[in-house]
Amino acid sequence: MDKVVLTGALNHETNTFSKNPTGIAEFEAYYAIFGAQIFTKFRNVNHEQAGFIDCAGQFGWELVPTVVATANPGGTVTKDAFERYAGAILKQAGSRRWDGIALSLHGAMVAEGIFDAEGHLLGELHAIVGSEVPIAITLDLHANVTEKMCCHANIIVSYKTYPHVDRCDAAVHAGQAPEFAMKNKVKIKTIIRQPPQIEGLDCGRTDVEPMTDLIPRLKEMEAEDGIFAVSLNAGFALADVPFVGPSVTVSYAEKTEQRAIEIANELEEVIWQSRDRVNNDYLTPEQAAQLAKHFTGESKPLVIADYSDNPGAGSYGDATKLLKALLEAGVEEASFGAVCVPQAAQILSHRRLGEKITIDLGGKNDPDLGGGPLRLTGEILRNYGGNYVSEGPMYAGLTKSFGPTAVFRVEGVDILVTTHNLQILDRMQFASFGIHQEKLKVVALKSMQHFRAAYEPLAAKVIVCDSGGLARPRRSTLLFQNVRRPIYPLDLIAR
Ligand SMILES: [Zn+2]
Repeated sequence: MDKVVLTGALNHETNTFSKNPTGIAEFEAYYAIFGAQIFTKFRNVNHEQAGFIDCAGQFGWELVPTVVATANPGGTVTKDAFERYAGAILKQAGSRRWDGIALSLHGAMVAEGIFDAEGHLLGELHAIVGSEVPIAITLDLHANVTEKMCCHANIIVSYKTYPHVDRCDAAVHAGQAPEFAMKNKVKIKTIIRQPPQIEGLDCGRTDVEPMTDLIPRLKEMEAEDGIFAVSLNAGFALADVPFVGPSVTVSYAEKTEQRAIEIANELEEVIWQSRDRVNNDYLTPEQAAQLAKHFTGESKPLVIADYSDNPGAGSYGDATKLLKALLEAGVEEASFGAVCVPQAAQILSHRRLGEKITIDLGGKNDPDLGGGPLRLTGEILRNYGGNYVSEGPMYAGLTKSFGPTAVFRVEGVDILVTTHNLQILDRMQFASFGIHQEKLKVVALKSMQHFRAAYEPLAAKVIVCDSGGLARPRRSTLLFQNVRRPIYPLDLIAR
């Protein structure tokens, strides 16, 4: 008889410093998909559900879908939203007997009144299905992992890449363990080590040291008998929660506990040693604009990433300082975006193409974080419903939407003005709206690191800018009130 496995996804990276809560509307703008539709949407794309579907095919599971609920990173998840989506998983979990569970979570979700939303969900799930049913989860590499998550999930597999191009692979990896546990009646457990620091591992970048050295080492450890997964989580520092920060988790067969502890202790020390490591050189908007103005790049563009206004870390996506600097410097043949200003997107979407119009753009959420509104006069080049199909490598094959979107040309800069707030990580986010960035001189975008997977092959050079947005580097300047103490760099720690 087929083994029956429950699956689903509830993903949110919660920036507790954002003033905008994340509710049902924000999930519905991204993904809130229930039941069998999940299999239609996520089969054969770069997503965890595709990985679990592959496992079901390989191992002969009857895979039972619940919900895939994901919202763009933002403020605390509302009680309504958490109860709706976690409730869909728990309700299905209580409906029958299960052989295994395979879920995709983020690991840095904070819900109203619940700092550790994933730990809470897993605790409830564990109580419903019983301790004999193996629970496997995938986490984002930026998870703030907790003891509670490790207590209630038998196996944890985090992405090993940032940009996260291994989402499907992580799920395929995670799916092996419940199959092994079900077949061999072996108990799998997970331990965690989390040193006292807010940041480390250079935010998890896997294109530079130390992660370039560490990932092959993790894979060697995972090849050892009885060690199912070794995950380095860089943590998510824009979260004022007790368990913020990087960690290592090791999932192992009970008999190999001693070796799992050795691995966890060794990697805990590696994380601690990386506490001040940063490879990026953060330019001011003015420095970036001057470089852009004088850039001559062998017919390939200069790519400027505004790290600090990355919607993928819960920033508002409407900071204006970099755009202002580019316009003041007279930079031409440039694209900029995406700027999330729903009101402006609505206006631009309902006017005729070619029309010249003056609007106030951006800077509304918090003018102190990356610049206030800019009054701009420009031409409406295009407007659309906002859907695009990702070419990858992240999210390859998946359809997403900016909501009503317009291309607004101001002097030499084509600005993508959107309704929904999304990080730039795929070239189709511009190409679908008629902006062919390979032909431009300057490509300015809002992203920290994910853009590199799609944009480094296009770029003559990449530079990183800090315009002072909500997701700016140097997070120790944020007002942390709930973190465990002592913690580096808020406290001096001798180890
Ligand atoms: Zn991440």
